Amino acid sequence: MHKTLGQGVGEIVHMTDQTAGDFMRDFRLRAKQQNAAFEVRDHPKSGGRFGRLETGVLRYGDENAQTVIFLTSGVHGAEQAAGSWCQFDLMDQGALDDLPNGIAVVLIHAINPWGAAAGRRYSEENVDLCRNFMTFGQAVPDPLDSYNALQPLFDAAPADAKDADAELAKFAAEHGVPAYYAAVMSGQYRDPDGIGFGGHGPTWARRTIEDIMLGHASNAKRIYALDYHTGVGPYAYGSIIGMQTGARLKRARQVFGDWVLSPRENPPAGFIDVTGHTTDGYEALFPAADVVAGVLEVGTFQQDVFIRRLLAEHRLTRAHGGESDHPDLACARRDLVSFFVPDDAHWRAYLRHRGAQAFAQILEDATREQD
Ligand SMILES: [Zn+2]
Repeated sequence: MHKTLGQGVGEIVHMTDQTAGDFMRDFRLRAKQQNAAFEVRDHPKSGGRFGRLETGVLRYGDENAQTVIFLTSGVHGAEQAAGSWCQFDLMDQGALDDLPNGIAVVLIHAINPWGAAAGRRYSEENVDLCRNFMTFGQAVPDPLDSYNALQPLFDAAPADAKDADAELAKFAAEHGVPAYYAAVMSGQYRDPDGIGFGGHGPTWARRTIEDIMLGHASNAKRIYALDYHTGVGPYAYGSIIGMQTGARLKRARQVFGDWVLSPRENPPAGFIDVTGHTTDGYEALFPAADVVAGVLEVGTFQQDVFIRRLLAEHRLTRAHGGESDHPDLACARRDLVSFFVPDDAHWRAYLRHRGAQAFAQILEDATREQD
């Protein structure tokens, strides 16, 4: 099935089996046709097993803008396609061409290019970037007791996966699915090869995005940062998740609406809090600015499908290595990507609509705040 997105870039065709490398190339091709400053950050593993790997950065608008809007795709590599489509739409539809004075928009495309190319949630360091924006050097949290108890089952050899999954199902039945989900997802800073690893220091992706952001907004008074994600929430339903509390959460709700979900202040059932989220990192980077960070999440399938696929991919990566071409691993990674980016035109249309809406909400707020 072929789908063509956008106008004026007729040679770019989107296929359902498009690879991450295609998205990086498409961003580069589009970027060169935009009236915006374009820059590329080469990934240290570029030119290796996964070909050319790069983070693209495109800045529109006022050079001395006091308001800077960052729109970032691919924090979780396997979700890259969804973020790319949202960013491509803004570029193709000219949504960034006539920004109000004093406002700049910076597109950050594929901040985890290795993860995107591999089809992993994690970075090349096996790190979940939404656990990596910590102040390292200070004490980091210990893993949950449930993580410690279940870790041998998470890390089971692929041949033992069935038995391990049966044990994990027992745990979920006894302690509840939310407790099981928290054990897998809340993050840990101990096992570099374990699941949910938050890192022992800032990753390449974190260092790169911090450098990009400081370079584009060190003097800005107002900063918006939207990350595109998928896989959380009901199928084809878009939520904004606000990892802030207090006044900053209120501010996020002014921008995106009262229904911004808050895992920290009033967690919806099944949501867990985490440490080292990108939102924490963006706020820490600009202590003097008004920072409004939001995570756009468009839901896909059921949580138990996600955990099953995430674990299968994790075990095969442990067994064969992050860059192995083992057919079982390739299959597990395709399954993971198809969890995050369903092969469903209706889902994709909704995602793109929601992406455009979130940007419009930010721009409205930014324009209002300037007056
Ligand atoms: Zn994500």
